[in-house]
Amino acid sequence: MTTPHMEISTRTQHLIDLETEFSAHNYHPLDVVIERAEGVWVYDVEGKRYLDCLAAYSAVNQGHCHPRLLHTLHEQAQKITLTSRAFRNEQFPLFCKELHDLTGFDMVLPMNSGAEAVETALKTARKWGYKVKGIPANQAEIIVCAGNFHGRTLSIVSFSSDEQYRDGFGPLTPGFKIIPYGDLQALRDAITPNTCAFLMEPIQGEAGIVIPPAGFLRQAADLCRQNRVLFMLDEIQSGLGRTGKLFAYMHEDIVPDVLIVGKALAGGFYPVSAVLASREILGVYKPGDHGSTFGGNPLGCALARTALRIIIDEKLVERSAELGAEFLARLQSLRSPAIKEVRGRGLWIGIELHGKARPYCEALKEEGVLCKETHDHVIRIAPPLVVTREELDWAFERIAKVLESR
Ligand SMILES: *Cc1c(COP(=O)(O)O)cnc(C)c1O
Repeated sequence: MTTPHMEISTRTQHLIDLETEFSAHNYHPLDVVIERAEGVWVYDVEGKRYLDCLAAYSAVNQGHCHPRLLHTLHEQAQKITLTSRAFRNEQFPLFCKELHDLTGFDMVLPMNSGAEAVETALKTARKWGYKVKGIPANQAEIIVCAGNFHGRTLSIVSFSSDEQYRDGFGPLTPGFKIIPYGDLQALRDAITPNTCAFLMEPIQGEAGIVIPPAGFLRQAADLCRQNRVLFMLDEIQSGLGRTGKLFAYMHEDIVPDVLIVGKALAGGFYPVSAVLASREILGVYKPGDHGSTFGGNPLGCALARTALRIIIDEKLVERSAELGAEFLARLQSLRSPAIKEVRGRGLWIGIELHGKARPYCEALKEEGVLCKETHDHVIRIAPPLVVTREELDWAFERIAKVLESR
């Protein structure tokens, strides 16, 4: 298909030109310059309205600029924003207790970005491997999955199976083994006495909403337990309601040893991430072993507390399950030679195409629906979980028009 040619206004073009000249080109954004937003709607600098079907990679599950988060931001920012953990602050303990109450995990280790939380989980697994499991020094192995996305730090890209993510960044961090996603036999074969952890996304988001075979999470959790390997789930994108459960592991009624959360944890107002685990596991840390200047800061903690309450009070998990199932069924009813498969869970849906997804995302943008292609062939649909049935109907009409018109 051809890319629609639309006129870009001089204001929009000017901002795009500035960005192109003065920022590193490590992204390829759609040419929409957003100025403000409310709920599921974003507005560009020309005042054109779009339905946001990416939700900042699920960081704004609560909807853009949620009034309760805005209130918390104002209130907490007037009191105190940062203490560092050299001192205690009044929000951090409440954040940890509330996260414990919500999830059942004994302890919390707070960080900021998702990648930092994943790094923290990797460090935790190694430390646990040496101090608790008794793995010989510097021999710890961590098993990960092909197609993974866990962030962009050097150690994390060291075990990416995406050539581009690693290219030019060597020497890479050793100690990782990659198995095919959802392959239990490969996991069994990869485990050795030196394996300290198995890390996976319960559904792979960046890979294109890839769902493992039914029962895999349970079988993997069992296998890990039998071999004293920590089962670590990265729910930075899949967690906090996105898949129609509070966490995606709840679809298989299991509990991981280590849970990594981020993104929607503070509703898009602030980067807040965390590693959750048992006392046995997070108990490996002594003062000075690990840290973060901003991790656990009072502003982030206050926002996260409100963000979590919004998920509960507004029943966003239930909304995701119900509206997601309906929307998936409607999208699966689309008849277009361009579509290879439509799959998803909750309000997290991937439309896999035979060809490139980018031109469709550009056409959808013209229709007022913002989506971003992932891995070339998949259109990912993940609106804020506050989306209404009527808004999804509105989006569906436009998606159908774009997909069925070619
Ligand atoms: C976004 C994401 C990360 C990285 O989070 P950042 O905040 O961008 O560092 C890690 N894992 C998963 C599954 C993600 O979706």
